[in-house]
Amino acid sequence: MGENPLEAICITIGRISMAVQTNLSKLIKIPQKPTNVQISVSPPTPTASMLAADSYPPHSTDTNTKAGPVTREELGRATWTFIHTLGAQYQEKPTRQQKKDVKELMAILSRIYPCKECADHFKEVLSSNPVQAGSQTEFSQWLCRVHNVVNRSLGKPTFPCEQVDARWGKLDCEHRMCDLQGTMTPFDKY
Ligand code: FAD
Repeated sequence: MGENPLEAICITIGRISMAVQTNLSKLIKIPQKPTNVQISVSPPTPTASMLAADSYPPHSTDTNTKAGPVTREELGRATWTFIHTLGAQYQEKPTRQQKKDVKELMAILSRIYPCKECADHFKEVLSSNPVQAGSQTEFSQWLCRVHNVVNRSLGKPTFPCEQVDARWGKLDCEHRMCDLQGTMTPFDKY
């Protein structure tokens, strides 16, 4: 043998390595790449169960939000929260436009509130208790009274209206930046 002995050793190691790989691949199942399979890049259409699950959309970071429809009670609580907060934040000296707006809002609620029975009942409540919105105190007390009318009709305890300011307040917003401005009508700025 006139060859380089190192070359012979390298060839032998290469053969042993090939033999080991061949035998190992027979023992271990290596996953095969799929062939002729189209990979979809669009997200899956959410099913009803996905939408109801807390985890949808998948990358949402808000873990406290329950997805899905609300109950009549949840809707009621949310709406009263909105209305009483509006009452707390209402101007002590409202503009004519602001008085008109809250009256219209109540009338609209009685037409489109998404619980027909509640909307119909509220329409009756409004007709026997016309909106009083001459000042912040007047409006928040009126709201308390009409909420109590609804409470009574549902067999719930009534709320002491002298405590309405303690229960509800202005929106907790930095530097009172969320306070309503009483100077402009919605169209003045255009
Ligand atoms: P809610 O009545 O929702 O009150 C929420 C919170 O407001 C209470 O926890 C309390 O801290 C405070 N509060 C209670 N009373 C007053 C008050 N007088 N003044 C100030 N704060 C108060 N449900 C029906 O089943 N049938 C109906 O016809 C109906 N009509 C509705 C009409 C409207 C306009 C609205 C907004 C809701 C209506 N609801 C109706 C829903 C119902 O009023 C309740 O919201 C729901 O039953 C949940 O009640 P709750 O006991 O959690 O407290």
